[in-house]
Amino acid sequence: MMESALTARDRVGVQDFVLLENHTSEVAFIENLRKRFKENLIYTYIGSVLVSVNPYKDLEIYTKQHMERYRGVNFYEVSPHIYAVSDNAYRSMRTERRDQCMLISGESGAGKTEASKKVLQYYAVTCPASEQVQTVKDRLLQSNPVLEAFGNAKTLRNDNSSRFGKYMDIQFDFRGAPVGGHILNYLLEKSRVVHQSHGERNFHIFYQLIEGGEEDLLRRLGLERNTQQYQYLVKGNCPKVSSINDRSDWKLVRKALSVIGFSDDDVEELLNIIASVLHLGNVQFGGEDSGNAYITTDTQIKYLARLLGVDGSVLKEALTHKKITAKGEELMSPLNQEQASSARDALSKAIYGRTFTWLVNKINDSLAFKDDSFSSKNASVIGLLDIYGFEVFQNNRWEESNCGLYYSIALLCFQWEPVQYFNNKIICDLVEEKFKGIISILDEECLRPGDASDITFLEKLEDTVGGHVHFLSHKLADGKTRKVMGRDEFRLLHYAGEVNYSVNGFLDKNNDLLFRNLKEVMCMSENKILTQCFDREELTDRKRPETTATQFKNSLAKLMEILMSKEPSYVRCIKPNDAKQAGRFDEVLIRHQVKYLGLMENLRVRRAGFAYRRRYEVFLQRYKSLCPDTWPNWDGRLVDGVSTLVKHLGYKPEEYKLGRSKIFIRFPKTLFATEDALEVR
Ligand code: ADP
Ligand code: MG
Repeated sequence: MMESALTARDRVGVQDFVLLENHTSEVAFIENLRKRFKENLIYTYIGSVLVSVNPYKDLEIYTKQHMERYRGVNFYEVSPHIYAVSDNAYRSMRTERRDQCMLISGESGAGKTEASKKVLQYYAVTCPASEQVQTVKDRLLQSNPVLEAFGNAKTLRNDNSSRFGKYMDIQFDFRGAPVGGHILNYLLEKSRVVHQSHGERNFHIFYQLIEGGEEDLLRRLGLERNTQQYQYLVKGNCPKVSSINDRSDWKLVRKALSVIGFSDDDVEELLNIIASVLHLGNVQFGGEDSGNAYITTDTQIKYLARLLGVDGSVLKEALTHKKITAKGEELMSPLNQEQASSARDALSKAIYGRTFTWLVNKINDSLAFKDDSFSSKNASVIGLLDIYGFEVFQNNRWEESNCGLYYSIALLCFQWEPVQYFNNKIICDLVEEKFKGIISILDEECLRPGDASDITFLEKLEDTVGGHVHFLSHKLADGKTRKVMGRDEFRLLHYAGEVNYSVNGFLDKNNDLLFRNLKEVMCMSENKILTQCFDREELTDRKRPETTATQFKNSLAKLMEILMSKEPSYVRCIKPNDAKQAGRFDEVLIRHQVKYLGLMENLRVRRAGFAYRRRYEVFLQRYKSLCPDTWPNWDGRLVDGVSTLVKHLGYKPEEYKLGRSKIFIRFPKTLFATEDALEVR
């Protein structure tokens, strides 16, 4: 008996790292992960935190039977699973009436998006339904393929990489049925529209349309069934991906659009825009002797005029000129070839980016409550955060660095200790502080007329924050470090590692530069989507719109507020190898992730840290019936009531601590035993 139990443990490891004998050893930690991974056991807990290793193959563990197995069951009774965490959050929401959120982190390709989809599917299948609820469930599920078509792309790290951050609320009514949803999107990687690195692709939708679009549709849009005809699709030299079937995905996306409630008109206008972006990419410029650019490709302009509902000659002028105001007079100043190309690319990015936002808003409309008898204020909520960007690689793009996330989501996501948090706060002040943080210096440089450039920005950084211990630049570095840094780079020392940022393109990116006359053309567009995306107000408004960095900072602040008001659950995703291959456990890569996901810290805190916590009123309300002194009501102070209750239940002093407003329980089994006592009554 004893022996077979031992062998099983030897073979499959422990299902909760808390049970590891040598719990401070990273080697033992990784060995446990490896054992389980080899047995296709991709999930392991650290207390209530779920660690998941991407299997890169279908495991048949997401069937309806599996869902049933986890439904309403305490999660220590069954093997670790994303469904257990989902169910636990759901039950906490129901019994404690507290909004929940699930924070899913990990590097690109680790399985975050898949995890969030599993959670959604779990609720769609297991929660109570009615006809109306079914519609909401369908729409929630179908929002994924649509957002992925427009917001995901093949990268070197992930064939279906989300190129935007996403936070999604699922709203439940008093019966626990999903009745609505809301999505917040962050920082779409717009630059991908006009350029892709080698081996990468543009957003899926372009290939889907060209490969899958019906003959007459393509004819109407003026497109050829050959992705290699389009400048915006050839940069990565990667038209096809073996794991992706663009043609069948096209059908799925079309269906999803109609389930969500897009009308034929909406879809037509949407595809007009997607096709227009491709045509724009093929607009080429020649140079006159004077250096001024002129357009050499008139067919594209004709299609653009028709698809966007704009005047072709006005568009042509706007693509080759820049409107300037001199002495109160407006003048059209000609652009050279290079300037015209970048104006064209800026337009493509603006059109695509704004259309993506429109798409998210449209999905939100369709997910919003329709029931008058019930307002969304009364809803209970489970939020899913699927963030990308905790990636440490060279030459980070600013929009991918998510430094604000390091600071603010740090506490929630990583449960950092005060010291580490403190250190990181220093970095974030460095980035975010008003007037003298990196973002405000960037904004200032963007607003400064004249010779402001990426390099003057870097110089200003050196002048202002050069003395900061977490900041380094080529000029300030010592000889050794200088060798590995470019002249156009600065380095921030994050907790997760040192990251070099190239200032190349910082100013443009932050400005989201789109010349005024191109904006004007878009405002005149008869395309119904674009009229919503480009608001004439923008032209009359003298105030400059917020810069990218400031927008991001503000939207993160909003997200933080949302997350802080909720009870968090954590899912940490690990990528087993860089080859996207099943069965391969690359130890070096995994050790790196264990480190920067802070899993060893997690484990230590869980073991020492009384990780299970409940607010006094919640605890008392839930368990008061288990003790005659607290039943039916406790009149005294809450803390005394809880103390009386747990003494009656036989909690040992070392098993719990009473805090200011919460009871902290050391081991899950204590809380689970109490929960069980409730059930056997
Ligand atoms: P991330 O969102 O973290 O970048 P994804 O969730 O897109 O990563 O996962 C990348 C790929 O890995 C998926 O397209 C899928 O092929 C595979 N994958 C991820 N999670 C699972 C899983 N639980 N089971 C099977 N395959 C998975
Ligand atoms: Mg993803």
